[in-house]
Amino acid sequence: MRRKLAAGNWKMNGTAASLTELEALKSSLPTNAPDVVICPPAPLLYRATQAAKETGIQIGAQDCHMQESGAFTGDVSASMIADTGATHVIVGHSERRDAHEERDRDVRKKAKTAWAAGLTAIICIGETLEDHEANNTLDIIAGQLAGSLPSAVTPTNTVIAYEPIWAIGTGKVPTLEQIVEVHDFIRERLTSRYGTEIADMIPLLYGGSVKPDNAATIFKAANVDGALVGGASLKAADFAPIITALSQS
Ligand code: PEP
Repeated sequence: MRRKLAAGNWKMNGTAASLTELEALKSSLPTNAPDVVICPPAPLLYRATQAAKETGIQIGAQDCHMQESGAFTGDVSASMIADTGATHVIVGHSERRDAHEERDRDVRKKAKTAWAAGLTAIICIGETLEDHEANNTLDIIAGQLAGSLPSAVTPTNTVIAYEPIWAIGTGKVPTLEQIVEVHDFIRERLTSRYGTEIADMIPLLYGGSVKPDNAATIFKAANVDGALVGGASLKAADFAPIITALSQS
């Protein structure tokens, strides 16, 4: 059985006061809750790992530098993230690919640096609206998988998040058929590159406007093992029903 995972990306939102949401989330979790990872902004990571003790919630970062250390003012390395007690790091989020011009090869290097620090990399891929409308989605996804994933992927060091860029923060969500098609395709590509044993166990997340009212439908897709959630992860009252829907899927 693949593990289910609900990951929350707080983006550039929250201060120390927001960490009370972790305790609130813990009290609202179902008994058979899937894995839950919250990714707050970097300055909150250490406090978040402390606040998450005894909650079962894991903490992740939103990005890491591709190098281990050095003269990279303002950047944060994977080992610094691990040192806070965090266990995961998102790499290749479309907002990083867009605003920081990160390319597949950068994402691949970041994933390897994350692994070297003992972190699980949540590797994001997804097509633009233009590519979606031109029916190029599967080609784009194939290219991003080939370019962003290192060869030493395992089910414990990697989670893949499919996030159509046009669905992030827009309230637009692909149809269930589209979600099924892309996740099935991702699983097939993983199988042809890494073999069934590895590919079958890698968690695939859907991300893009997941909300309490659409989560159950999205989780009907057999190859969707969870969600990467932005806006609706900020408040326990919104994130908890999504996690419950995942636990019931
Ligand atoms: C995200 O930022 O990864 C995301 C999916 O955001 P939202 O859920 O707000 O669309």
